[in-house]
Amino acid sequence: MNGARQRIVVLGGGSGGVVAATRLGRSLGAEHEVTLVDRRSEHIYMPAFMFLMVGQRRPSDISRKLKKLERRNVRVVQAEITGIDVKQQQVVLDTGPLPYDHLIISLGLRTAPELVPGSAEGAYHAWELEAAVKTQAALAAFEGGRIVVGIPPGPYRCPPAPFETQWMLHDYFTRRGIRDRVQIDYFTPNPEPAGEEHDPAVWMDAQSRARGIEQHYGFTVESVDPEAKVVRALYGYTLPYDLLFLVPRHEPAQVLLDSGLVDSRLGIGVDYDTLATRWDNVYAIGDCADVPASKAGIVAHQEAEVVSHNLAVAITGRGRPETLRLHTI
Ligand SMILES: Cc1cc2nc3c(=O)[nH]c(=O)nc-3n(C[C@H](O)[C@H](O)[C@H](O)COP(=O)(O)OP(=O)(O)OC[C@H]3O[C@@H](n4cnc5c(N)ncnc54)[C@H](O)[C@@H]3O)c2cc1C
Repeated sequence: MNGARQRIVVLGGGSGGVVAATRLGRSLGAEHEVTLVDRRSEHIYMPAFMFLMVGQRRPSDISRKLKKLERRNVRVVQAEITGIDVKQQQVVLDTGPLPYDHLIISLGLRTAPELVPGSAEGAYHAWELEAAVKTQAALAAFEGGRIVVGIPPGPYRCPPAPFETQWMLHDYFTRRGIRDRVQIDYFTPNPEPAGEEHDPAVWMDAQSRARGIEQHYGFTVESVDPEAKVVRALYGYTLPYDLLFLVPRHEPAQVLLDSGLVDSRLGIGVDYDTLATRWDNVYAIGDCADVPASKAGIVAHQEAEVVSHNLAVAITGRGRPETLRLHTI
């Protein structure tokens, strides 16, 4: 690159965005400008939502001020991103335009409980901070009955987390001494797993059954009836519940849809080796990138490392570029 001061804009202060911005701030120092934008003032560590749900964490334990990144040469802007103009090389914020030379998009997925009618009113979940806090209160008040845990069709953050949810509920009610009064059921649209014992899906199924949790496969949720306390699925299947824990459906961030950057519900198309999109100087990482891997923080982290390393190499001329080799599924 020609040595001119480069403006790198990172969209999203979640798992991918924080790693990318921190790495770039560290490797480029004050010679270039790294800006991170998020609507929130804090980074929220989502894997801890389930611990919060069972009373083992408080919201303050799992949140950190994004402004702390300013110690690492990262300018932090709290704003709503309302547009991304890849032709003009600028991002539109509710506070005004933000031009870039290099753009890293890590805007995650949006939870959309409204896509399953009745779910917003009739179901709990722990896929957002506020929802996890509400679930904690509902679980604390639960004295017995049937809890149904389920997942909807389509992508969602952290595929194994609903299994952990079942097991954590089992432990939680065991600790409270009322496990014998709580029936736990699990449903998924996926078919019943078959194969070797060490296959992850077979192993997880066995772990759930060992805890006395009934598994319902091929159950594609369509709606929730909060009055009748029944979950309804494709082909007329139903499951009654006293407390329903339904992972919300997930959608790409609205701004990505509005800006015409996503081709499918799986996110922005990228080159699997470099996370480059089809637009000049634009990369997508984490849950908003359409990569054949889990929507998971560990994936976002590894992708952020590769993109930030390669950008630093391109800008400084030091080091060699790398390609993404995920060491996870
Ligand atoms: C219950 C649960 C358990 C999990 N457990 C694990 C686990 O054990 N291991 C694991 O690897 N992963 C786990 N994950 C998944 C992991 O948290 C996500 O995959 C990861 O956070 C994705 O990072 P990201 O940077 O792509 O997006 P996110 O972390 O979602 O960050 C996106 C950011 O973009 C911001 N944003 C979006 N739109 C806008 C806008 N228009 N304007 C301004 N800001 C915007 C959001 O505020 C957010 O801060 C779990 C998730 C959940 C919910």
